[in-house]
Amino acid sequence: MRNAALSWFAKSLIFNAHHTQKCDAEHHPLSACFCMHIVLHSAPPYYYVIEGVPPLGVGGTPFDREGSRRLPQPFPSQSNLNGKAQRQRRIAMGLNSAIEWCDSSFSPWTGCQKVSPGCDHCYAEAWAERYKFCGWGPHADRRFSGGKTWTAIRRWSPLVDGHRRRIFSAELADIFDNKAHPIWRSQFFDLVRETPQFDWLILTKRPENMARMLPSDWGSGYPNVWLGVTAEDQPHYDRRWPILAATPAPVRFISYEPALGPLSIARHEAKPDWLIAGCESGRGARPSDEDWFRAIRDECLETGTAFFLKQVMRNRRKVSTPELDGQRWTQWP
Ligand code: SF4
Repeated sequence: MRNAALSWFAKSLIFNAHHTQKCDAEHHPLSACFCMHIVLHSAPPYYYVIEGVPPLGVGGTPFDREGSRRLPQPFPSQSNLNGKAQRQRRIAMGLNSAIEWCDSSFSPWTGCQKVSPGCDHCYAEAWAERYKFCGWGPHADRRFSGGKTWTAIRRWSPLVDGHRRRIFSAELADIFDNKAHPIWRSQFFDLVRETPQFDWLILTKRPENMARMLPSDWGSGYPNVWLGVTAEDQPHYDRRWPILAATPAPVRFISYEPALGPLSIARHEAKPDWLIAGCESGRGARPSDEDWFRAIRDECLETGTAFFLKQVMRNRRKVSTPELDGQRWTQWP
């Protein structure tokens, strides 16, 4: 009996170490997950926060430590694509995005893991489940989007309505995900360098990984890359913005969407260049208050931050780029 208990304990320690190495999540302290983060850190009010805390894989990527993990497979040629793969390609790349603040979207790979409350109703995960194009979570493999997808982007017209094409990346993944293969990330930044005609809008919930995952020639930032972080409420702004503010980039932006609580940018000296705000939508959407958007708009106007109001819920319907106090707010930096 004693031996069985010791064996179980040893196995759970191995599981913890293995899981923690791959896990980006902010765990709830009561989570059933046996994550070492719970032991190592005190509990913040809601989710377990690891931002700013180096994962165990620091100093080498998770892939360095797991030599057996599969390397990215080349994507099959168009003629060999089955229906599922074709669907994945269409989903990973959007020449004309429905997202109001960008023109196009591109996910170099698909798959991610929830890391904070803003992820709770992740539509990318819902798509992945529906169309079965990849798994989700700390233990699911990410899926590379394929070479032809990447080639097609180079042929996109550089201008849209007189401005440089803005490409949101990644809609169905996170560029700074620990589980994404470093080779894919390196290839993505090659593509970014080779397409100076576009503006690449990289939005992440993992700014703590940026310093070690940005390319070595990042310097003062690539002129065609805007870096952004999601801040669904004040605590997440207070954690993520200072990291982004200390990272060189020609444009730094905040996505205050889904807005889950009021937000002020006043308490930090550095201010973002651009702030996108919007409510959560879809089934089970958590409510937001238009007064939150009024307050942050006024702060943006005072501080010279461009303000973009993406969506609000009115009469249980989503209204895109709505009027607020008699005016639509669709500013870009
Ligand atoms: S970081 Fe983005 S893509 Fe990843 S789970 Fe969260 S909301 Fe979804």
